Amino acid sequence: MIFEEADLVIKDCKILPMNNAGIIPKGVIAVKGGKISYVGDSGNAQCIRAEKVLEGHRKVAMPGLVNCHTHLAMTLFRGLAEDMTMDQWLEETIWPLEAKLRPEDVYIGSLLGCLEMIKNGVTCFADMYFFESKVAEAVKKAGIRASLASGIIETVDWQTGDKSFDDAVYFAQKYEGWAEGRITTRLGPHTAYTCTEETLGKIREKASQAGIGIHIHLSELGTTPPYIARKSNLSEVELLENQGFLDDDVLAAHCIHLTTKDITILAKRGVKVAYNPVSNMKLAQGVSRVKELIDAGITVGLGTDGAASNNSLDMFETMKIAALLQKLHYRDPTILRAREVLRAATIKGAEALGLHNKIGTLEVGKRADIILVDLNRPNLVPLHDIYANLVYSARGCDVDSVIVDGKILMENREVKTLNEEEVIKKAENQALGLAGS
Ligand SMILES: [Zn+2]
Repeated sequence: MIFEEADLVIKDCKILPMNNAGIIPKGVIAVKGGKISYVGDSGNAQCIRAEKVLEGHRKVAMPGLVNCHTHLAMTLFRGLAEDMTMDQWLEETIWPLEAKLRPEDVYIGSLLGCLEMIKNGVTCFADMYFFESKVAEAVKKAGIRASLASGIIETVDWQTGDKSFDDAVYFAQKYEGWAEGRITTRLGPHTAYTCTEETLGKIREKASQAGIGIHIHLSELGTTPPYIARKSNLSEVELLENQGFLDDDVLAAHCIHLTTKDITILAKRGVKVAYNPVSNMKLAQGVSRVKELIDAGITVGLGTDGAASNNSLDMFETMKIAALLQKLHYRDPTILRAREVLRAATIKGAEALGLHNKIGTLEVGKRADIILVDLNRPNLVPLHDIYANLVYSARGCDVDSVIVDGKILMENREVKTLNEEEVIKKAENQALGLAGS
């Protein structure tokens, strides 16, 4: 194959397309107009002219990682709510802090989160928070891709259901396709118990009528906390199912405390799951039965959750812990193999966000969301099994370059779209102000 013109060419790299094509030991990727225009063996490709060439020797090119669940601006709370019970974490620390949040805090915290994710090879994330338009502005500036939802919550007295529902609908409609199409939007009800049945009904109706997806926390808590007036003895899944809420446009974060019946319902409705192993372990909420979810045919992506319960947005760390926790839980080391984890962090994550036709694999016609991982690192040598090296040995800091929508966001670990020093300094000041005031 000869391609005559490209905006960007990555040459002489190992390629992990994450589709059925298998590994290309020495290949080339060409990008034109933000899309992948060629991916294949170096021997067959000859580029006539490229605006920019990235050397891929001793590097692997793979799809950028997809973080399916976070609250980005919570980077400002990193280290502020440590080693607490879930009730203490929420009621004594997080909610009082969130009540003080201003739009500018969310903007700066989101820039810090974007910077951290770019440096760790995350090219797309799903977020649910307050002042979500500020998250959108940070995404636009950073050049990353995102599925954003303005949070809807009724339990906390500083937000009212109607207002947060109206704000969420307004946000979803205004920002869909924003930032040159890199932003897609969802409606973000906090949980089945922190929104009224009436509001959940309105959310489902709006989602179906306008074709907007939903992002919700589901079955995260083992016991009902005191601030929640429990509506019935039904499980959260059964409650939502009875309301006709569950459908294939729902992205459900956590899904820990599920009955076998719940799993059957989620599979039947085509609900997508975001598995957040680090946050679930840190808040000691339990283990999502990911093997059974996958066996039931449910799409499972990976998430970090917010930095207040993780405390990092490193998806390489999340991949490793995702696998280890499942192996330990089932007392079976063959469960959730490295390649399957890598699929969860790429194409399955894209599927969970409804973006699998656009991103998640390296294929001609897809948007060029590509990361290069430096294989010439002591922790990645020797290279007997690239899937195992990437999942069990790599760290986010092994990512060398990051491309989103064909644009280079980081090259040789230097971020091009954000002033790293400035973002870190501003975020630190903002966080200290929030913690102190
Ligand atoms: Zn969450």
